[in-house]
Amino acid sequence: MKNIHSQITEFCTGCQKIQNLKGTVSIREEKTPDGVKVKIITTSYHCEICNAFIRSEEHDPENKLSTLEQKAYDEISDKASLYNL
Ligand SMILES: [Zn+2]
Repeated sequence: MKNIHSQITEFCTGCQKIQNLKGTVSIREEKTPDGVKVKIITTSYHCEICNAFIRSEEHDPENKLSTLEQKAYDEISDKASLYNL
């Protein structure tokens, strides 16, 4: 998992106002019904202040990631290959 500074602001139900969100990028592997392994990237957004969960987004690696997500993804991928995960 990799934390990113998302620069996204959204309404937080915990704080009852607009807050900066922090993003957490994680990768998991799933098998399609055909048995093909695909990597799913999930970015979860939490309030930067009270840590309340706001929402999460799933990306297929084929889809376009934001620059920050791409950077985080590259870093996790590097680590994953380094430790043979
Ligand atoms: Zn909050």
